[in-house]
Amino acid sequence: MIQFDNVYKTYGRGQDALKNVSFTIDEGEFVFLTGHSGAGKSTLLRLVALIEAASRGQVIVDGRNLDRIRPAEVPFYRRRIGFIFQEHRLLPDRSVFDNVALPLVVAGHRSTEINKRVRAALDKVGLLSKERTSPRTLSSGEQQRVGIARAVVNRPQILLADEPTGNLDPALSIDILKLFGQFNDIGVTVVIATHDLELIRHQQHRRIALAAGQVAAIG
Ligand code: ADP
Repeated sequence: MIQFDNVYKTYGRGQDALKNVSFTIDEGEFVFLTGHSGAGKSTLLRLVALIEAASRGQVIVDGRNLDRIRPAEVPFYRRRIGFIFQEHRLLPDRSVFDNVALPLVVAGHRSTEINKRVRAALDKVGLLSKERTSPRTLSSGEQQRVGIARAVVNRPQILLADEPTGNLDPALSIDILKLFGQFNDIGVTVVIATHDLELIRHQQHRRIALAAGQVAAIG
């Protein structure tokens, strides 16, 4: 599903953020991407989401070499991927509903379809009752759930999360991991970047560890 072959990423003339990275993640897998701050986790996720392009090597997602995706195709490619950030990046002056609806509005869906899908996504994250409220009034755990609802509303095949529990206490973090587990249970491939080894200590999922831009261990 996600394959890296000898991938390098260099920003500008700086050091390599990723060096000779190779691994495979199968369809329907749940994988933790671990490593200290600066190890290259965000860069790796950004390559999968085509937010950045590899400097060398090949990134293949669902059988497609991302090198060969034309700029005009990128928005369509990205619809198959849900991206969750540490800081949820919600619009504070829009309702929870509008925030989650945004990717569907951008994709040009009809309002009946938008209504149905947004409410289904909010229901999955347990926040249907908050659809008319402002994200400002929600707790940080609830805000992260809205971010997850927004990421899944396009029914992506792949969920990428960059330190999704970075701002949450341990109990809420476990809840968020369970939520990702529920999407994985219905077949979504999940990749979660985290530096928090304590949080995932009891998690059975496979791990890919990065250190200074290189794969240090693959579980
Ligand atoms: P992590 O997510 O593990 O903290 P990153 O992928 O953010 O690691 O960073 C890996 C390396 O790439 C770091 O040395 C970081 O400073 C560098 N880096 C990340 N993004 C950029 C950027 N946009 N421009 C220049 N250097 C960057």
